[in-house]
Amino acid sequence: MAKRILLDMDGVMADVYQNLINLEYRNSGRRISYRDLEGNNVLTYFPNLSEMLHQKGFFRNLPLMAGAQEGTEYLNSKYDLYIVTAAVKLPDSMIEKYEWLQENFPYIRPQQMIFCGSKIPVCGDIMIDDHPKNLYPFCGERILFTQPNNIHMDFPDFVRINSWKDIDTLL
Ligand SMILES: [Mg+2]
Repeated sequence: MAKRILLDMDGVMADVYQNLINLEYRNSGRRISYRDLEGNNVLTYFPNLSEMLHQKGFFRNLPLMAGAQEGTEYLNSKYDLYIVTAAVKLPDSMIEKYEWLQENFPYIRPQQMIFCGSKIPVCGDIMIDDHPKNLYPFCGERILFTQPNNIHMDFPDFVRINSWKDIDTLL
């Protein structure tokens, strides 16, 4: 039986930071780079973060991470793949995330989508996520996807991947 992989959306499949950078520039004219965000509190750079996340269309219009479509298709062909994404705190994001997945990943069936309030009870063999708080309680193999929020931190318990290019060599 194929191993079960739990794949995070935001910061792994979808480039949330790029969307925030674009919106901040549109709203305030401030140009922020990925380098600015590395290891820093995002609220310093996006003081209206909560409003941005609640803005209609935020999750519907997220840019894709480079290589995410090909990489996800590869994982889907080889593993028992589930997309696991925290969505309940922002209920409007659920329909937007569903439509975004259908548009960009049409081979992912609705039965493979888990829109949750917490990832803790979701079990599997491998989890890929950009947030250590989601990986710590996970029972299986834990893969940290590099994003500005985790880039300067050392996590000996996790395997780190820096981009989708690393995924087919690892998995
Ligand atoms: Mg994430």
